[in-house]
Amino acid sequence: MKIDLHTHSNVSDGTQTPAELMAAAAAAGLDVVALTDHDSTAGWAPATEAVWRLGLTLVPGMEVSCKTAAGISVHLLSYLHDPSHPGLLEEITKARDARLTRAQTMVERLSEDYPLNWDDVSAHVGPGATVGRPHIADALVAAGVVADRSEAFAHILTPHSPYYVGHYAPDPVLAVQLIRAAGGVPVFAHSKAASRGRTVGEETFLAMIEAGLLGVEVDHRDNPEDGRRWLRALAAEHSLIITGSSDYHGAGKPNLLGENLTSGENLARIEAAGTGTAVARP
Ligand code: AMP
Ligand code: FE
Ligand code: FE
Ligand code: ZN
Repeated sequence: MKIDLHTHSNVSDGTQTPAELMAAAAAAGLDVVALTDHDSTAGWAPATEAVWRLGLTLVPGMEVSCKTAAGISVHLLSYLHDPSHPGLLEEITKARDARLTRAQTMVERLSEDYPLNWDDVSAHVGPGATVGRPHIADALVAAGVVADRSEAFAHILTPHSPYYVGHYAPDPVLAVQLIRAAGGVPVFAHSKAASRGRTVGEETFLAMIEAGLLGVEVDHRDNPEDGRRWLRALAAEHSLIITGSSDYHGAGKPNLLGENLTSGENLARIEAAGTGTAVARP
């Protein structure tokens, strides 16, 4: 069984529609795929329809952007939550609205130095999609300023750049509580990815576990080997679910579908704990 539990469509910052992504997952030989767009479940319906045709199993999910009081970014995967749960919906709606305003402010700043306006960026945002820096990166690529998203993130779009603007995101402890209240399974994504910015210390993991965190994403290309060992020990100590995933973004990132996988046993634990939405089987 090939199980990949972290992918993005153009409902957030991936480059394929949910249906195209499901077809790519089937072509890559996956048996089970989770769709985990940033702060949105808008892809669940078209992805579900696609997997019925493709004979693939879909785990409906979402990646919730969070920020600690110290300003450290935390990404929290949620599986099988009720997408209409008011508390969780309110937080992701706040974050999505803040992301739009923030992206527009970043583009205003960038437009002083680069040939770029909001229409150029909008052209790269899927219908109703969660807006992120990758869409600004795509517009910079189209304008010939950088060669690809990675180059844009290396300089112009990093948090150290003068063009960078932050946005509202819930505290990870609150997000864990809301995901659980919505019947979902919270799994801490790429938590040791120091290449993406500052990472949280043990006290934040413990606070999130106390709040109901159920799993950690261990096998992810951005988690270095020592971080993975630490996460495996933490998971053993606290009986956490362990996942491995690609974090595929279509053409937007080099990550390939199925490059990291989750075991059937860990998927079974996610399915047993998730009560807000069912896994979609063909
Ligand atoms: P944002 O959500 O607007 O803060 O942007 C962060 C998103 O950008 C993450 O979800 C990543 O998918 C993407 N990202 C981060 N670093 C890179 C990179 N080097 N190349 C391509 N995409 C990236
Ligand atoms: Fe992303
Ligand atoms: Fe992430
Ligand atoms: Zn992701």
